[in-house]
Amino acid sequence: MKKVAKLTRESVWENQLKGNLTTIEEIRTDTLNDLQLLSEDFQHLHLVVTSVQQNYAALLKQNRQMRAMLLQVVDECFCWQGNRCDRCNAIFQLLSNRQLE
Ligand SMILES: [Zn+2]
Repeated sequence: MKKVAKLTRESVWENQLKGNLTTIEEIRTDTLNDLQLLSEDFQHLHLVVTSVQQNYAALLKQNRQMRAMLLQVVDECFCWQGNRCDRCNAIFQLLSNRQLE
């Protein structure tokens, strides 16, 4: 009777241990899956940031070209510094408001 009781206690303990090991294994698998998803999210985010970066660089380049073009228009105008015509004043107003940034 004593031996049976001992065996039963041991088998209960063994079953608990097996159950715990299964749970730990499941948690580790879930963690691996979560990390995989996180990695995919980061890769997607990286693509988005790269795309925004490229668009912004293109926009800055275009704005630089437009500023240069406007300044050239002023340079080639008949008016002069201290006596600018309406169009050149409008151009300087536009550039000073930094509306092209
Ligand atoms: Zn002018």
